Amino acid sequence: MLKILWFVFKLLWRVLRLVAVILSLTIGFAWRQTLGRSNVYVRRDWNDRGLGRVRWADLYAPQWDTISGGTQVENPLPLLHAYVWCDKVRGNIGHSGAHGPGPHNIKVCMLRDDNSRRIWRRLLDLAGPDRRLELG
Ligand SMILES: [Zn+2]
Repeated sequence: MLKILWFVFKLLWRVLRLVAVILSLTIGFAWRQTLGRSNVYVRRDWNDRGLGRVRWADLYAPQWDTISGGTQVENPLPLLHAYVWCDKVRGNIGHSGAHGPGPHNIKVCMLRDDNSRRIWRRLLDLAGPDRRLELG
């Protein structure tokens, strides 16, 4: 009798462990999918009125930088920049295909006010803490 109970217990334990593994895999996958499809709002420069929308998965190498893309304006404060292929950007940001056949790898900047908290936290995770605070 005890042996049977033990056997059942062990079997249950294995099933539970299997379920836990499957759950963590599917939730992790779903989370990455959701994040990958999340919108990130980007500008060509912090004072550019045009706002573009890109998918998280299309954004590369987020980093703090003082030089903007395009016209290479130097900002007094470091801003969060990243790279994206211009054909992945929806919306109207200051970029034209005039300088040659596309798509071009363009540098864009992200502002905290344009983006959701979740996206901003993920960006900081990758780029490092807000460097504007160091200058204060
Ligand atoms: Zn382009």
